[in-house]
Amino acid sequence: MTQTDHAETEAPGARKLGALAERLRGPLLTTESPGYDEARALFNARKSARPLAIACCENVDDVRAALAWARASGVPLSVRAGGHGVHGLAIREGGLVIDLRAMDGVAIAADARQARVGGGARWNAVYEAAAAHGLGPTGGTETSVGVVGFTIGSGNAWLMRRHGLACDNVVSFELVTADGTVREVDADDPDLFWALKGGGGNFGVITAITLQLHPVPDQISAGMTFYAAEDAERTLRGYRDVMEEAPRDTAAMWALAPFPDDPQVPGPLRGRTVVLIAMLHVGPREEGERHLERLRTLAPTVLDTVGEVPFAQGIRVLDGVAPPGLQQYWRGMYLRSLDDEAVATTLPLVAVAPEMGMQVWRMGGAVDDVPAGATAIPRGERRYFMGLASAWVDPAESERIISATDAAGDAFAPWSSGACPNHVDRLTGEELRAALGEEIHDRLRAVKRQVDPGNVFAANQNIEP
Ligand SMILES: Cc1cc2nc3c(=O)[nH]c(=O)nc-3n(C[C@H](O)[C@H](O)[C@H](O)COP(=O)(O)OP(=O)(O)OC[C@H]3O[C@@H](n4cnc5c(N)ncnc54)[C@H](O)[C@@H]3O)c2cc1C
Repeated sequence: MTQTDHAETEAPGARKLGALAERLRGPLLTTESPGYDEARALFNARKSARPLAIACCENVDDVRAALAWARASGVPLSVRAGGHGVHGLAIREGGLVIDLRAMDGVAIAADARQARVGGGARWNAVYEAAAAHGLGPTGGTETSVGVVGFTIGSGNAWLMRRHGLACDNVVSFELVTADGTVREVDADDPDLFWALKGGGGNFGVITAITLQLHPVPDQISAGMTFYAAEDAERTLRGYRDVMEEAPRDTAAMWALAPFPDDPQVPGPLRGRTVVLIAMLHVGPREEGERHLERLRTLAPTVLDTVGEVPFAQGIRVLDGVAPPGLQQYWRGMYLRSLDDEAVATTLPLVAVAPEMGMQVWRMGGAVDDVPAGATAIPRGERRYFMGLASAWVDPAESERIISATDAAGDAFAPWSSGACPNHVDRLTGEELRAALGEEIHDRLRAVKRQVDPGNVFAANQNIEP
């Protein structure tokens, strides 16, 4: 290949990558680099793209250099942290990825009960560091999820009924905006601070976040109770009734979950779809035992793992239930109510696609204490979160499974109060507007016009300027 031929077949910007590599402290992975394929892999194997390069940033200067280079070269950007966005927006075909995974430090200020967390950290690091001080964040229910991505999309968290959503517990953000400015954004910067609490990655790269922590007991009651799929309706009604009366210290998820025929799966669950209720209680022991006991005796059990465990272990009860590397399609939404008709209408739909799981969380408690408009996510009318999550191996099955999942999601329309942007594929502008409501969407747009008028940060649930 001659020099000219090579230049003609190169992606735009490729010739200048050497200049970026020189400016970065961390490595710049190109399509030829060892580790490129591992670095571009996401939780959702259905979302595969070949970026031009991946800038593995080690500090704020690396982020600024990558951002400046992408803007000058006209190469589209994306931001990657924990890689759990099922929409796959963290990588773009032919784009430059700002990969924050190496920026994963966690520093605890025990007196202030705060954690300063790097933009690429995952929840497991925060839980571990905070637990050493008897503290815990309002954080992820699967602890390998990225802290920032989870939080800026609202963050339905284990401790939300006690302390609010993850976004309700942000003290400040360190933000690199499209023009390369580094800003510490807190309550003194009310519009941008508000927008970052629900508006996702629309406003820049968050290189660090300060979170409010809360005292947690050393030992908690936690675990999972499994029931037969035939008891799905009865246990979902029972879950609803118990959780309507439960104290804020009790958190629980009801799920219908297909388990693979895999020797690593416990015998009674292997190759079966079962109901599981994952639960924990972070308040007084006797009170917890009473409420959890009710959730553990809704029908004859298949398996029960609930017991006293250290907080840092109990909070990881859902880790591994959704493994990475499968094809994924999710429909997540909030429900105004979960009446008997909702339960009865929807469960048969789940049986149509054996690959589809379904999960229900009672929201409420401290989530409802935060006034509407205080953050960039709608409040009220959000009694339950309901997630349909389909996972499969063979891409040839995608069409059938996606349409079955959509049909099940559509059947919830009479009860739905809006999609959850953290738990869905990429939303169109109209869908995002509907999910957030016009008022919040318009306000986010006004902030976007000020901070990122050129829509440099477009690889997200995008608010167009
Ligand atoms: C198994 C699993 C369990 C989950 N459980 C929950 C749950 O219980 N509650 C809940 O609310 N959500 C949950 N989620 C959804 C999850 O919170 C979102 O998908 C979140 O965006 C993932 O962030 P990430 O950093 O891991 O992913 P990535 O794919 O790396 O990032 C997703 C997007 O977030 C933005 N982003 C991430 N980090 C930054 C940053 N530092 N600066 C700027 N933008 C950034 C970017 O736009 C990026 O494209 C779950 C997802 C999975 C796969």
